[in-house]
Amino acid sequence: MSRILIIEDEESIAELEKDYLELSGFEVEIETQGDVGLEKALGGEYDLFILDLMLPGIDGFDICRRIREDRDTPIIIVSAKKDDIDKIHGLGLGADDYITKPFSPSEMVARVKAHLARYERLVSSGLPKNDIVEIRGIKIDKTARRVWVNGEEKTFTNKEFDLLTFLAENPNRVFTKEELFRQIWNMDSVGDIATVTVHIKKIREKIEFNTAKPQYIETIWGVGYRFKI
Ligand code: CA
Repeated sequence: MSRILIIEDEESIAELEKDYLELSGFEVEIETQGDVGLEKALGGEYDLFILDLMLPGIDGFDICRRIREDRDTPIIIVSAKKDDIDKIHGLGLGADDYITKPFSPSEMVARVKAHLARYERLVSSGLPKNDIVEIRGIKIDKTARRVWVNGEEKTFTNKEFDLLTFLAENPNRVFTKEELFRQIWNMDSVGDIATVTVHIKKIREKIEFNTAKPQYIETIWGVGYRFKI
């Protein structure tokens, strides 16, 4: 099911859009604050954005630009003024479509469907799908080298990413620090094994709710580490 995020501060309009989209089988979320909306857009997994221009926090122009810097998800701008459309064009923000208020809800739904279909064709005709590892609340996109914990993206250094991915791809197996060091640092274990401990600590700070009681990477005392599935 496609997920749509509506960023719109006029609740009656947002609710109207949501009702029509839900009737067409879409999963819809509404955010009324520009800054929170942008955060959600960048942190979540949405298939399309419907974006108002005049918003509290950050305006729709900035939100559009920031989303485009990060991803190609279709963006439909809903604007109260025809002039805004010229401005959007002039700024080259990369929006896919514009609807002016007042609009017909069924027209909006039709455009949403068209953009989703077009984007789907674009994505499936291009590169193969990203290689994704998902375990409980953790999602690792190996192709894009990005990690989300309970929907929130976290930043990892290269070695932290490699180590987390290796453990997550080989769950329920205990690895010694030496094995992990050889695997990730690609050297004979003449290097500093303590590096592994330091990296595990940093990874836990990003993925664990409580680092004192790890839910993902367990320490097997006297042996090494195990990713619990
Ligand atoms: Ca507005």
